[in-house]
Amino acid sequence: MATIDGLPPLREVIATHGLAARKSLGQNFLLDLNLTAKIARQAGDLSGCDVLEIGPGPGGLTRGLLAEGARRVLAIEKDARCLPALAEIAAAYPRRLEVVNGDALEVDPLTRLTPPIRIVANLPYNVGTELLVRWLTPDRWPPYWDSLTLMFQREVAERIVARPGGKAYGRLALLASWRAEARITLSLPPEAFTPPPKVSSAVVHLTALPEPRYPADPRVLERVVAMAFNQRRKMLRAALKGLAPDIEDRLRAASIAPTDRAETVSLEQFCALARAVSP
Ligand code: SAM
Repeated sequence: MATIDGLPPLREVIATHGLAARKSLGQNFLLDLNLTAKIARQAGDLSGCDVLEIGPGPGGLTRGLLAEGARRVLAIEKDARCLPALAEIAAAYPRRLEVVNGDALEVDPLTRLTPPIRIVANLPYNVGTELLVRWLTPDRWPPYWDSLTLMFQREVAERIVARPGGKAYGRLALLASWRAEARITLSLPPEAFTPPPKVSSAVVHLTALPEPRYPADPRVLERVVAMAFNQRRKMLRAALKGLAPDIEDRLRAASIAPTDRAETVSLEQFCALARAVSP
């Protein structure tokens, strides 16, 4: 059957290159090229952009990104078995796809990319969350990327876009909303993947803000938020006791009642608290 890019269908690619999915690498592949093109479109107009893709696997999303007009794609893949399949895509799109065989948690992609840069990935969820936190907490802001378009378990996606007052609200929502605009743009059932995972997935699109919404020292804010949510059932005067001997005064200075719980405190209040406890 003909495909959008003239390359073989993904089922055939997987059979030819013996790419049986490995659980240890979180491999749940997207085989429908119409769907991967749709996911690529969630990242906006890609012409004129370099795209960093993490975990291309057999290349379904990579093909979507290239077909949707990405200027260049740099793809970092840990599983060397995928390299021959990715080389075929690189040959079909001369000078537009570079593949690095490595661990995305260790490879520094920056020297290989030219702004504007967008990051797109369908990653194993544990690696995805860790990378998201790293992308949101660089030493300097704005970051090197303009936007992140990432597939997550639906439940994790909801934690990223959560507002105060619910169970999903916590560290991820605060880090995301402090310096980015985050929204869920697409939901996918388990059957969209091969093999299907146990739960539904969702694509989250995050756009970097030119500057954080409220001033705060990133390290202090992260520490305050981590402490507050580590004991989310406790009142903040207890959860943050170790932060300062006069924590109750500092909470009040940030317009937070010492008896409040982390779940009800807004980003603006957390930033005010980070300023109030900064050395
Ligand atoms: N993007 C492909 C797709 O949508 O069909 C594959 C998605 S699959 C969920 C995750 C991919 O990430 C796999 O190809 C896996 O080998 C790769 N991967 C897992 N851990 C990785 C890591 N630490 N660094 C880079 N790639 C990784």
